[in-house]
Amino acid sequence: MNVDLKDIVSSFCTEKNIPLVGYAASNRWEQPLFEPWIPADFYPHHILPETRSVIVIGLPVALPVLETSPSIWYHELYKTVNSLLDQYTVQLASLLSRAGFPSVFVPRDGYGSIEVLQKNPVAFFSHRHAAVLAGLGRFGVNNMVLTREFGPRIRFGSIFTTALIPSDPLVEDELCIHCNKCVSLCPANALKEGDYPLVLTDKPACTTQSASLNKRYISPCGICIKVCPIGEDRRVFHRGNTGIYEPGSDTDLFHGWEHVRKYGGK
Ligand code: SF4
Ligand code: SF4
Repeated sequence: MNVDLKDIVSSFCTEKNIPLVGYAASNRWEQPLFEPWIPADFYPHHILPETRSVIVIGLPVALPVLETSPSIWYHELYKTVNSLLDQYTVQLASLLSRAGFPSVFVPRDGYGSIEVLQKNPVAFFSHRHAAVLAGLGRFGVNNMVLTREFGPRIRFGSIFTTALIPSDPLVEDELCIHCNKCVSLCPANALKEGDYPLVLTDKPACTTQSASLNKRYISPCGICIKVCPIGEDRRVFHRGNTGIYEPGSDTDLFHGWEHVRKYGGK
């Protein structure tokens, strides 16, 4: 048991202000949590045979910025969070390797461009499944991982390590409350009522929406994570009322969002 390694990772996360970290032994991928499960080629130890554990870190996206989406503000936040995730997972992998446990980062976005994603809307590794297996959250109707702390407003990065680190407990409780706000407010009708993975995102519809926004420098869309009522961050930002996202809502917040949307993108 590599208790010291968890200490190393925890210290790093505290120093970098990384709020969520979880651990999953690679054999967890062999025990499907639901069906259909991800194909075996996507298991971490099939991608890199030496992998014995996956460490997953999570960085939140700030709700007030996400609320302006689609906007240049959220576009920039998204890029920055992705960049930080990549930097932190590279650094952490290096730290663990120097401690005697060879480790590598897995890039945040495993595709070259949205056009590539439109042709093949899958990355070589799923950070979302890794986050669930590392005990950080559970899938919701929006096909995203919901966490207690930030709902789906969190992005994940992963590290493959040769260290065998004890897995964290899975989140047993359902977090999604099936309010279907994500379904009704999706501008591309890409989501349907029903539990993940029985009802999956219409990826072509979602990526077409994303490609359209990308041409205007204001991708990603993010509406299905913005409107989700789950997450302690709603309390922190005093956003308990998700009715503010309904069409026709006219609040001081709405005027601010409209202002931001006029600038920085087309
Ligand atoms: S990102 Fe936008 S288009 Fe895609 S599923 Fe979510 S709300 Fe729909
Ligand atoms: S918006 Fe409602 S239905 Fe959609 S994931 Fe969140 S809790 Fe579930």
